[in-house]
Amino acid sequence: MLNIVIFGAPGSGKGTQSEKIIEEYGVEHISTGDVLREEIKKRTELGKLAASYIDEGDFIPDSLMIKILASVLDAKGKDIKGVIFDGFPRTIPQAEALDEMLAERGETVSVVIGLEVDGEELINRIVLRGKTSGRADDNEHTARHRLENYHNMTQPLKKYYIEEGKYVSVPGKGDIDEIFSHIKEVIDAVK
Ligand code: AMP
Repeated sequence: MLNIVIFGAPGSGKGTQSEKIIEEYGVEHISTGDVLREEIKKRTELGKLAASYIDEGDFIPDSLMIKILASVLDAKGKDIKGVIFDGFPRTIPQAEALDEMLAERGETVSVVIGLEVDGEELINRIVLRGKTSGRADDNEHTARHRLENYHNMTQPLKKYYIEEGKYVSVPGKGDIDEIFSHIKEVIDAVK
């Protein structure tokens, strides 16, 4: 199975490139942000709790996030070509949990694609996206806080995956199709 982690700061293009990867490779999409936003839309208890974190640009606690991921992954079943993990893991405990969950299924992370985009470009993209996304967290103030959390809690994962020999960096600035052709080379080398 092809288990791809798409990794990068908020606004780095993870969602956009995930869509192209799904179309090309027929893998399943697990976007934890989408899962949480769906719960918010349905006004479930989980959604209410999630909104209290998301709207402030804070992370959902690891223990809860790991449980959600496990149940979404289980729901995909066994008869799938692979998964693209978009927005998970975001912390070292989440990465360790993902390794364990996949190992229980006889699987491993195939590759981690790190989309590299610099800070001000990220803020500009998020503010622009906020004009149409309807997301309460797509504004400059919250975006800056999300970036801080990314640097403090998510960035250390880069080293974690470099040490596992799984991290491949891809420049995330420029033409969407050019970025995708770079990603394709990376995935074709591991599949
Ligand atoms: P995203 O759509 O991936 O940018 O996620 C939007 C928001 O959902 C994040 O800013 C977090 O508040 C929350 N979230 C999504 N995935 C995770 C995760 N793996 N761990 C903690 N919080 C998450």
